[in-house]
Amino acid sequence: MDTARSHASSANPTSMVDVLVPVALDQTYSYRVPRGMELKAGDVVAVPLGPREVMAVVWAENAKPDPRLHNRLKEVSAKLDVPPLKPELRALVDWVANYTLSARGMVLRMTLRMGENLGPERMRLGVRLVGEPPRRMTLARQRVIEVLSDRLLHGKSEAAREAGVSGGVIDGLVDEGTLTVEPLPPPAAPPAPDPDYAQPEFSRQQRAAADAMRTLAASGNFHVALLDGVTGSGKTEVYFEAIAENVRRGRQSLILMPEIALTGQFLDRFAQRFGVRPLEWHSELSPRTRARNWAAISGGEAAVVVGARSALFLPYADLGFIIVDEEHDQAYKQDDGARYHARDMAVVRAHIAKIPIVLASATPSIESEVNARKGRYQRIALPSRFGGQHMPHIEAIDLRREPPPRGRFISPRLAEQIRYAVERREQALLFLNRRGYAPLTLCRACGHRFACTICDAWLVDHRFRQRLVCHHCGFSMPRPNICPHCAAEESLVAVGPGVERLQEEAAALFPRARTMVLSSDLITSIETMRTELNEIAEGRVDIIIGTQLVAKGHNFPRLNLVGVVDADLGLGNGDPRAAERTFQLLNQVIGRAGRDQGRGVGYLQTHQPEHPVMKALVANDREAFYASEIEQRERTGYPPFGRLASLIISAGDRPTAEGFARKLASVAPFDERIQVLGPAEAPLAVIKGRYRFRLLVKSLRSVDLSQYLREWLAAAPKTTGNLKLEVDVDPQSFL
Ligand code: ADP
Ligand code: ZN
Repeated sequence: MDTARSHASSANPTSMVDVLVPVALDQTYSYRVPRGMELKAGDVVAVPLGPREVMAVVWAENAKPDPRLHNRLKEVSAKLDVPPLKPELRALVDWVANYTLSARGMVLRMTLRMGENLGPERMRLGVRLVGEPPRRMTLARQRVIEVLSDRLLHGKSEAAREAGVSGGVIDGLVDEGTLTVEPLPPPAAPPAPDPDYAQPEFSRQQRAAADAMRTLAASGNFHVALLDGVTGSGKTEVYFEAIAENVRRGRQSLILMPEIALTGQFLDRFAQRFGVRPLEWHSELSPRTRARNWAAISGGEAAVVVGARSALFLPYADLGFIIVDEEHDQAYKQDDGARYHARDMAVVRAHIAKIPIVLASATPSIESEVNARKGRYQRIALPSRFGGQHMPHIEAIDLRREPPPRGRFISPRLAEQIRYAVERREQALLFLNRRGYAPLTLCRACGHRFACTICDAWLVDHRFRQRLVCHHCGFSMPRPNICPHCAAEESLVAVGPGVERLQEEAAALFPRARTMVLSSDLITSIETMRTELNEIAEGRVDIIIGTQLVAKGHNFPRLNLVGVVDADLGLGNGDPRAAERTFQLLNQVIGRAGRDQGRGVGYLQTHQPEHPVMKALVANDREAFYASEIEQRERTGYPPFGRLASLIISAGDRPTAEGFARKLASVAPFDERIQVLGPAEAPLAVIKGRYRFRLLVKSLRSVDLSQYLREWLAAAPKTTGNLKLEVDVDPQSFL
């Protein structure tokens, strides 16, 4: 960062600005503007903060700080050469911070993740074939010369990779004068998507939806539409039309996706439609790519950005349209730092920026469904699959009547269906939302169970990694041979299934089938995941065994059978959204079946086939599910008919946490429209050695709950020592 600083006098008292620093602070700080520097609100600057020099954004011009402080104010060090943050983005930062009770600086931080290095691109070097062949010729040298025989400039590392040689071979040829080194021109701006590159032939139903999309994008005004289409109906193809329209209008588009669903398949489909891939934004970008993409976004060269939730806060030069794909997905809620829901905040951004937004899903969230029913959102529906494909046929397998053999988890009926599928050379998917081999290990001799030492949780057996692992803090230990409690040998048994154990069972049942486990802990990067998904799509796997990672947005053309190993897993954990989540997840995972040809079939292994979620799935009766769930939310005053917030209190010991939680509850301001429930010990009572208590605040929809919380917390005792209070407005997790 440029730290050159002018030591101009402080004679000009009006040239002062308030800046917001991207750290966990809510307030702005006043700085003097050095003579010769002109600053406007939104400008990105460098300022001294304590011993450091930090990046900051001018939040207000002509600040009027306390005159007594004036002479002690420091000066802005530099104005950075990046586009200023627009008023709409600053308004969004303020709005989100205010609503979620997060420090404004924490929200601002998400807009400024431009990568560490803002400096000029490191110069990249290229090599060109210019001279005579070297005196000493080797096979490696020969290959390099072949690769460069066109006498054009090639990237040095690319040339080495293509020829399959080390950089040293190239250097040797340079020393011999066979090759020259020249700087490569800087990478060209990303090529623009072509809105008319390859438009699909739409079905009649799709055409109507696509027309509605185009009209929406062309409106150029705030407007929310729910693109409500069953799995395989062509939602993506249809919303691409809105993107195309927005590209024609010369404005930027943002496609938000739940983190892990950023698949290569999606990028390829985009390229098939628009001729080029969109720009990506997610946590795994290298710092250099991040910096380059940030610059393309803020400079306006990036026409279409596909990103995970944090992409919402980027400083687009001219954002004209937003899509939130799989809008019901829980991954849109960020649960650390600033706790925000990206779908909801995307609607807020669209509102502030006065642009249209589309929420897409096969199983809309109850919130969005209610908004569509009330006419607040326009519903654009795709009720049937593209190409005349049927929706999967779904059957429940009652585990009470058709249990699997002892120590096994696949019931005989499901096993038989998998055998048929494999014989027909179709794929089968076994779905179990549980990582690892077994969720619990115990000693047959003394009953000892392996638990985490600092969390209130069992250790999960991971056989591939050969360790027992805590899923909450990451603690792990090797699986011992003798019981640490009673010293019995060979007495440890695995209890319950995880995906790794299912693979073992599948391999035993179908020894000739090729199996693959897809689980987030086995995947080292987005790239490896993309490779594995491609292998499945190309049919190189017969039985896929996966966690919710496989549920999202992939097309596996040969997959016609989905077996849900434990359909009850997400129910009955005290989460008010348990039924909704289970319905969405199972619908989505079974929706992977029968998308291309053949009839998809789904089996739900369950102990409660009479549960409304199972009945709605089996009857393919979405309406019945929404009707009963909405009725229940309305009756009990749960969202979206009421508001919720959680206060999570934690401390290094139980009495401190509980005592503080009680004190906090006792000073809650009285309001007849608001209920404060608790404190209660959290379902996950201890995480990383911290004891946790929860308060749940429930109010009528008309209440400004954030304001109520702010007043309450202002009057509350201060957290001291290692006490911690976290506020979660619109909580999605109740653990
Ligand atoms: P959804 O997102 O609703 O599950 P997709 O957009 O992924 O559905 O479409 C499902 C499959 O059908 C994809 O392989 C897609 O390419 C194909 N498809 C959908 N509509 C068309 C169309 N009009 N022409 C050709 N293929 C289509
Ligand atoms: Zn732990």
